Amino acid sequence: MAQLYFYYSAMNAGKSTSLLQSSYNYNERGMRTLIFTAEIDTRFGKGKVCSRIGLSAEALLFSPETNIAELIKSENESEKVHCILIDECHFLTKKHVEQLCEIVDYDDIPVLCYGLRTDFQGELFSGSQYLLAWSDKLVELKTICHCGRKASRTLRFGGDGNVVYEGSQIDIGGNEKYVAVCRKHYSDVIREVKAKKV
Ligand SMILES: [Zn+2]
Repeated sequence: MAQLYFYYSAMNAGKSTSLLQSSYNYNERGMRTLIFTAEIDTRFGKGKVCSRIGLSAEALLFSPETNIAELIKSENESEKVHCILIDECHFLTKKHVEQLCEIVDYDDIPVLCYGLRTDFQGELFSGSQYLLAWSDKLVELKTICHCGRKASRTLRFGGDGNVVYEGSQIDIGGNEKYVAVCRKHYSDVIREVKAKKV
């Protein structure tokens, strides 16, 4: 029986590296994988998943309008697909996650999703909300704060190099824009920034 997996973490925990490694393992055994990534993230060019340690692979794109189930079914009809891997899965909609459950349960294809649990304000992304609710397996990919504790929060930095705690949820950026920290250091920094503003 196939299962739905949600591999979640804060920024820069090596999600894309882990995804590409899993895909490689399938391919090495002669099995076909389909990789998806969010259309929104064009940091490395459209239709590509790249890891910070230099690995990359071609990917299909999803936007809120994409019917992921239909895409997978038509690919699977032309040539058997053994595993679906989704990068930036926090950008999935509720509908997408429903479609992925359907692929797992009715087409018996495992789906591995990789993404952030929360945004820079500590709020759940839509994709993460439903993946946390409906996945068969939840796996945390850990990274550490500068203090050595597990990093579970993400700080966002503005163009002036200062931490921002307001703004839209989506603001694509690389390592320079986001830093993963533990809950305590997240609170410390936000308190400090807010105190300065008064
Ligand atoms: Zn810390």
